Amino acid sequence: MEPGDGDGAGDKIPFDIDTVLGRIRQEVRGFADAAMFALATRGHTSLFEQLVACILSIRTRDEVSLPTALTLLRRASTPKAMSQLTPEQIEALIRPVTFPEPKARQLHALAQRTVEEFGGQLPEDVAVLQSFRGVGPKCAHLALGVACGHEAISVDIHVHRVTNRWGYVRTRAPEQTLKALEGLLPRTYWIEINRLLVPFGKHVCTGSRPLCSRCPVLSMCRQVGVSHPR
Ligand code: SF4
Repeated sequence: MEPGDGDGAGDKIPFDIDTVLGRIRQEVRGFADAAMFALATRGHTSLFEQLVACILSIRTRDEVSLPTALTLLRRASTPKAMSQLTPEQIEALIRPVTFPEPKARQLHALAQRTVEEFGGQLPEDVAVLQSFRGVGPKCAHLALGVACGHEAISVDIHVHRVTNRWGYVRTRAPEQTLKALEGLLPRTYWIEINRLLVPFGKHVCTGSRPLCSRCPVLSMCRQVGVSHPR
């Protein structure tokens, strides 16, 4: 059975991931990039900068976390420079994001340990990245993908929700979605899927009342669990 066949198939045509992602690529052209991709296009491409930005973005909207990341990275964009700030100085720079005080401590510890243990260069190792407080699989995978081109899938709430609505995966939590996508999704999309589905999930396949009537993949999407589309 193909992914997505089953629930609500009705008059749907077979699900084709290449077609779906191609249409979504077109659809999101006019929307702002997710924060970490936007930072990369502004030249903040190192693994350290990407990890810092991801920590700042946790439970914080991109509209807030992106300018805050730019403010912090303008002041200190390397582990050495950030380790020379105090946690209080970092907190003052990142005040607009949620949980500025614990995040400032996490960022300071990240910078300090990178200098002391790794000679100022974060290793391209997902296990090492996840050993830092505040860094989970989503941030570790996304930072490695954006900064280093690692083939890693980053599953946030948008990727989890949208791929389940398609019927492409059937999972209850982002961690399960990551495992399922690793078995299904062609590797060429492992980094791009986050870049596409974050803006798509914000503007089209929204948490409540998704805009199915103008969705470019309606003909293939099984709309699993969608009860009140617009
Ligand atoms: S907006 Fe509707 S049709 Fe489009 S992906 Fe989401 S649930 Fe499917």
